[in-house]
Amino acid sequence: MITEALFTIDFTNAAYIVAAVLFIVGLKQLGSPATARNGNRLSALAMLVAVVATIVGNDIASWEWILGGVIVGSGIGAISARRVQMTSMPQLVAVFNGFGGAASAVVAAAELIRLIDANEEIAENVSITIMASVIVGGVTLTGSFIAYGKLQGLVPTRPLLLPIRNVINVGLLITMIASTVWLVADPSITPFLIAAGTALALGILVVIPIGGADMPVVIALLNSYSGIAGAATGFVLDNNILIIAGSLVGASGLILTRIMTKAMNRSLANVMLGGFGVEDGAGASGGDDDRPVRSIQPDDAATILGYSQSVIFVPGYGLAVAQAQHQVRELADLLKDRGIRVSYAIHPVAGRMPGHMNVLLAEANVPYDELRDLDQINSEFQRTDVAVVIGANDVTNPSARTDKSSPIYGMPILNVDQAQSVIVMKRSMSSGFAGVQNELFFLDRTMMLFGDAKDSVEKITSEVKDL
Ligand code: NDP
Repeated sequence: MITEALFTIDFTNAAYIVAAVLFIVGLKQLGSPATARNGNRLSALAMLVAVVATIVGNDIASWEWILGGVIVGSGIGAISARRVQMTSMPQLVAVFNGFGGAASAVVAAAELIRLIDANEEIAENVSITIMASVIVGGVTLTGSFIAYGKLQGLVPTRPLLLPIRNVINVGLLITMIASTVWLVADPSITPFLIAAGTALALGILVVIPIGGADMPVVIALLNSYSGIAGAATGFVLDNNILIIAGSLVGASGLILTRIMTKAMNRSLANVMLGGFGVEDGAGASGGDDDRPVRSIQPDDAATILGYSQSVIFVPGYGLAVAQAQHQVRELADLLKDRGIRVSYAIHPVAGRMPGHMNVLLAEANVPYDELRDLDQINSEFQRTDVAVVIGANDVTNPSARTDKSSPIYGMPILNVDQAQSVIVMKRSMSSGFAGVQNELFFLDRTMMLFGDAKDSVEKITSEVKDL
């Protein structure tokens, strides 16, 4: 009996089980920098198995369309993977999330049109999952494109607060629920289009009021939404692997959202209601501060570093812009050769995407055991001679502890200001992503080394060699 059941498992579902296992093992391996590359390969292989099994195991109406899609899609993927700069990866990820949501919504639309045209009776659960696909997919599409705009600097990063935004949002939610009830009662394309329109509007309205510093939470959440939309579409099509893959993306996105809210010390509701720490009509200010700062040159920095006993490097988004990771590792190696203790402080939201700093430093083969996260390193700063801030800003701003009007108030920061001395490398006095001035720059123990981080680190390295 059991043997018979085993043999009746059809080819497609057997291949889907293989793909699901590969997805899960791949995801698990993505959890550690040492195994992440292999995890990525396994997940890509899983996707290939899933796509091939779906094509082979179903009656394919038109191979030309599928081949055309594969060629165009792979072409765009290959070109963007090669052309897009590492610094623009977060934007690319935002766009991919958006397209994931759009794909789910479009497939749900196609299925609805097919069912209506075929005059088939549409079961309640199918109507509901079609609406779930289009609603979550629509919100993901426009929300991700606003996130893209904020990351690319096309949309202001400060919270943009509409006066009655919460009333409008509740109105949109009610419209979506009403159109879902309508579609269940009387399936037609009109309620579907209403839900699609309101979802697209809601995506814009929920992301626009979210301030720059809270964007990591939103990006993680949109990532999760793209998975949930995919899983809903899997139910619409009765496709097991789409349900599994969508659920994995949805669940891992939710876990990431949780990690990000914890890193920002925010509740999800607090982020989603937007405008944290900023009154209506007010914006975060920063940049144009004419208080004096202490400025140093690379040779001064080299002397301070070369004769210290312990150094913590604090990388931020500017490290990615400058692409200075290899030079930083070279400098760190040189310091270690002089017997100096070196480590790296990694803030969970440093950079512009989760894990951004880990990826950069791994690229430069920085040993993983030198990377310390916020909880591990924060008590170390007061015992450290020099903290070297390389293109980090918001994640080191001490006013996050005290200034209730700041958009980053409450976010745990790296306690850089507690080190014996601090060297900050950046090009100017301009503010970070959250748009607020950094009080760290004005402390007595802080020395500003202005210039491109790669250039500055190279100069320090050559000076340390001559010490
Ligand atoms: P910030 O954006 O706060 O600051 C980066 C700093 O790098 C800038 O002040 C800039 O100053 C400096 N910089 C830029 N280019 C260079 C260069 N070539 N050489 C030297 N310095 C340079 O970065 P942080 O990493 O400290 O903080 C990340 C921010 O981004 C947080 O607000 C976080 O919430 C947000 N965010 C994070 C996401 C994530 O998932 N990690 C996603 C979305 C947003 P200057 O121009 O003067 O050089």
